[in-house]
Amino acid sequence: MRRTLSIALVTFSIVSCSTNAITNRSQLSLFSESDIQSMAAQEYTQFLSQNKVVATTGSKDAEMVRRIGQRLVSAINQYYAEKGLSKELEGYKWEYNLVDSKEVNAWCMPGGKIVVYTGLLPISQNEAALAVVMGHEIAHALAKHGNERMSQQAAAQLGETALSVAIANKTPAAQNLFKTAYGVGSNIGVLLPFSRKQELEADKYGLIFAAMAGYNPQEAIPLWERMQKASEGQKPPEILSTHPAESTRIEKLKELMPEALTYYKPVGSSGK
Ligand SMILES: [Zn+2]
Repeated sequence: MRRTLSIALVTFSIVSCSTNAITNRSQLSLFSESDIQSMAAQEYTQFLSQNKVVATTGSKDAEMVRRIGQRLVSAINQYYAEKGLSKELEGYKWEYNLVDSKEVNAWCMPGGKIVVYTGLLPISQNEAALAVVMGHEIAHALAKHGNERMSQQAAAQLGETALSVAIANKTPAAQNLFKTAYGVGSNIGVLLPFSRKQELEADKYGLIFAAMAGYNPQEAIPLWERMQKASEGQKPPEILSTHPAESTRIEKLKELMPEALTYYKPVGSSGK
């Protein structure tokens, strides 16, 4: 009996932890990437149908969001290819949409489903700074931080048996965990902020991807200064509730900058 139990536990621990391909960090990961991506695709479609998407025709801002997205993705493809990790990007169907909303926010769901809110643009101010934000959001998705947060939440909320049933059957419970982890759907109300470790990882890889895409990563410093200033106002930017800005963030970004700059290849004038 005891032996059966220990075998079961060993099996469970093997499926529940995985080492992330780019960060090399072991993380709790109870959901398969394909399940997560299919939940994301479903939520993304629903989100877009319920919000005002800005068409790229005739909108310079929507065009810019798409252009940044495409440049970041080709940089990411190159980064993964050079490390022999292209297989990790299988299943990604990248989409970039600008949504008309006062919210100061942006996110990227697993599988490459990106949204930027128009409310972010007055704070991002320029293309390179927006690329830094989008790179940061994409890095969270690639580092599978949502899966990790969702797994931690699931493990805390449900027992092991209930959890495996919920995942296998894609029950509303699993879908709700997803919404909570990704902060979509106002009916949930409780957002899961990323941890300090996850924020640092997203900052590091976000800067690298932006730099490889031809955007000056140094724009991250004034960007986060503007974000910090905005957070002192009456209504702090929504993006800060899921990406807590520590007072030391700017110092940490400065520490990450020399490495990011080794990847920086300016492309034309829009690189600034
Ligand atoms: Zn973040």
